[in-house]
Amino acid sequence: MATMPLTGRERDLFVQAREYIASGRLPSAVPKSLGAGHGTGATCCLCGQRIEPEQVEYELREEGGETFHFHMQCHAIWQLAAVDQISRG
Ligand SMILES: [Zn+2]
Repeated sequence: MATMPLTGRERDLFVQAREYIASGRLPSAVPKSLGAGHGTGATCCLCGQRIEPEQVEYELREEGGETFHFHMQCHAIWQLAAVDQISRG
């Protein structure tokens, strides 16, 4: 993780993702169901912006039924943050 260069904006999102994971707003592990496709206009769970049809949208569904939508990049940043969280215990 430490070797991956992040832009300022990515770092902001990474910090935010860690906070969301710590507060339980986002899961800390990848749910079993993961789908990807064109954006549906849903709101990204990390950056809070709309996922436009020309962008790639990741959709995670937890077993409890809660669904999370991410931009492709926000999903990658959330995963980095989740791994970081786990490695810290
Ligand atoms: Zn996003």
